[in-house]
Amino acid sequence: MSIVHPTQDAINEAGRILREGGVVVIPTETVYGLACDALNPEAVRRVFEIKGRPSENPLIIHLADAKQLELVAQDIPDLAWKIAERFWPGPLTLVLKKRLEVPTETTGGLETVAVRVPRHFVARDVIKAADRPVAAPSANVFMGLSPTSVEDLDPEILVDVDLVLDGGRCEIGLESTVIDLTSDVPRILRPGAISRADIQILLGKPLGHVPHEDIRKSPGMYRRHYAPGAQVELVKQQLGEHDCGLTFFEAHGSHQIKMPRNAQAYGAVLYGALKRLDLQKPARIFVEEPPAEPEWEAVWDRLKKASASLL
Ligand code: AMP
Ligand code: MG
Repeated sequence: MSIVHPTQDAINEAGRILREGGVVVIPTETVYGLACDALNPEAVRRVFEIKGRPSENPLIIHLADAKQLELVAQDIPDLAWKIAERFWPGPLTLVLKKRLEVPTETTGGLETVAVRVPRHFVARDVIKAADRPVAAPSANVFMGLSPTSVEDLDPEILVDVDLVLDGGRCEIGLESTVIDLTSDVPRILRPGAISRADIQILLGKPLGHVPHEDIRKSPGMYRRHYAPGAQVELVKQQLGEHDCGLTFFEAHGSHQIKMPRNAQAYGAVLYGALKRLDLQKPARIFVEEPPAEPEWEAVWDRLKKASASLL
């Protein structure tokens, strides 16, 4: 395995590896992805193995442009095209009815498929070079923190992949917003950088919520996820001098990291910050609660999942 800059040669090589059923780590604007041919069940199985991900947790398929949607989805509602036109390329994933050609390995056994067009030009160029839809879950071991730079990739992942393209730091740093368009009312399965408000403005009506009893049915909505090794604890008050964690105030040393007060900027550095603290092997990582405002929805979602206990 080698880590290379995404030159045109490297992108062509990544495309060749994907066509041959290999696995490549690629940068996207959200987080680094573990890319494989989405229509090749063998390659998809390898991605699940590398991540240690349960097979019922579906992968997101990445396309080079919206025109390719019909390669993986069918009965596409007008609303999907409208959302695609407004938000693609970008950090928004649509869940639609899958086409027969998409193996159930990719969709975790479901008849639906999750799909997006990434904004990162390297991701799109790799998909073009591969000349097929590319599945790319986050390039981390299951339940761990998603990598937002090559430095944050787990050594366990590195040894198992065929190539890594280093595209620098991910601009958004949180996974895409996932919208289900197969239920009666469009609903958000996972909040992300494209906010509920942005989508509702386009729709002209409120998005639905996933009822609590459906959470089990919605794959990937595990309570604990996006978590470092140390137990994370959300706190309402400012960190004490000796507490290891994330603060909105001045840090008292390398065991504390000062976080931005802007939600997007916070999201962009969150995983890298948790990773950095986790390397110090603290007993606990304390995180000062962010404001309870709508623009913090995606950050709150990840912090709640990171702080959930395993039981
Ligand atoms: P990622 O780990 O970023 O690849 O995101 C995958 C997540 O997208 C899953 O954990 C689910 O929450 C969601 N997802 C993917 N495919 C589907 C699907 N067919 N139906 C519902 N949710 C899906
Ligand atoms: Mg993930």
